[in-house]
Amino acid sequence: MEYYINPCSGISIDVKSGQMISVIDIEGGQVVDFFAESAVDSEEFLSPGVTIDCNESLRLRVGDTIYTNLYKPMFKVISDDVGEHDLLHPCCRPEMYEFFYHNGDNHSNCLDNINGALNSKRPIIHPVNIFMYSEIDGNGDLKVKKPLSKAGDKVVLETLMDVRLGIAACSVSESECNSGKCTAVKIIVE
Ligand SMILES: [Zn+2]
Repeated sequence: MEYYINPCSGISIDVKSGQMISVIDIEGGQVVDFFAESAVDSEEFLSPGVTIDCNESLRLRVGDTIYTNLYKPMFKVISDDVGEHDLLHPCCRPEMYEFFYHNGDNHSNCLDNINGALNSKRPIIHPVNIFMYSEIDGNGDLKVKKPLSKAGDKVVLETLMDVRLGIAACSVSESECNSGKCTAVKIIVE
């Protein structure tokens, strides 16, 4: 099945254990906020923090596992055309736009788009920010740079438990995060 995520929007997809998920940057330079909850218990969900802990790395590499808050394997990285993704930033939200750009009112944002898609009210969502390029220097300073993804680049994940995905095409046009513009994303589940 193929799914299109329009710019600045989110969708949910039910995916079974064993299925493959391709996350495709259609035009290039677009961040995808990738979140999931267990199909049987929404209190078990994807955790970048646990993923950093278990993999002992701030990076996501081919062969790595993405874990839940309960330290269970949720996805495995099968292939990756880009190699730069972000495990640190929470979903953008109105307060983030207000903090940095003073334009939070009615701004499309990944927190509301994913909560809306999942019919949930999570107070904060930490996704895997696929294609987001966060550079950390030796002092720990963090800079968000333009994604390295080119048109058609993809990441393929194997699903290791039954899940409900909540995925958003990120809404930030104010910085280099999405190369200065918001574009669509394609998801293939097979
Ligand atoms: Zn966002």
